[in-house]
Amino acid sequence: MLEASKINKSFNGTQVLTDISLEVDSGKILCIVGPSGAGKTTLLRIITGLEQADSGSFKIDGQPFDPDSNNTSNALIGVVFQDFRLFPHLSVLENITLAPELVLKESRTKAQAKAKDILSQLDLADKADIYPFQLSGGQKQRVAIARALALDPKILCYDEPTSALDPGLRQSVETLILRLKSQGMTQIVVTHDMTFAQNIADKILEVKPAQEL
Ligand code: ADP
Ligand code: ADP
Repeated sequence: MLEASKINKSFNGTQVLTDISLEVDSGKILCIVGPSGAGKTTLLRIITGLEQADSGSFKIDGQPFDPDSNNTSNALIGVVFQDFRLFPHLSVLENITLAPELVLKESRTKAQAKAKDILSQLDLADKADIYPFQLSGGQKQRVAIARALALDPKILCYDEPTSALDPGLRQSVETLILRLKSQGMTQIVVTHDMTFAQNIADKILEVKPAQEL
């Protein structure tokens, strides 16, 4: 599904990523692990077009892929941020329909129907009309996942999906990620939590801090 070859990235002369290559097959889960500061978030930001690599090449389904194109209306790769980044002044439903309406130009009726469908799948049907501050951490995360899914991504990426949650909620994130896998979603998960990675991953990529290379 997604292949990245020889990605390099430095900040202010400090090499953070050196010749990183990765591959994730359709419907599989790739976990990117490594200690804090190793460059995991940077790698995820590069794959999703939020940061530009100094060099490297990408393919999706065998075709050359420019991550920068992910910032346009046909984003193939969705992202769930560590801090969720929900819009505080919008309801749960509006958080999910905003981008489909603005970016995919879906009608409000269609966007709302799709959002409600996704919310039910994520056991959030009764939360549509409330606001992010009224949600628990685990619920906020599921709304962030619902928002990403509403853009119909081929690949869904997560940055540290367990770190902002109470330890007891790790199990529920695992269950949700594995449920999306059973529906065929391809997923890339950045985590420093090795147990979590081992529980969900089909493949694990270890990113090492630059000084250990
Ligand atoms: P991880 O996600 O593994 O904790 P990061 O990708 O966040 O690692 O960061 C890797 C290194 O790159 C760190 O030393 C960090 O300070 C540095 N870094 C990340 N983003 C930037 C940036 N925009 N400007 C400068 N340095 C950065
Ligand atoms: P995480 O800890 O979740 O891996 P960070 O908190 O390190 O990620 O990074 C969050 C944001 O801060 C990213 O946009 C990253 O590019 C930026 N960033 C990280 N380190 C630095 C740095 N040393 N200088 C400037 N920006 C940074």
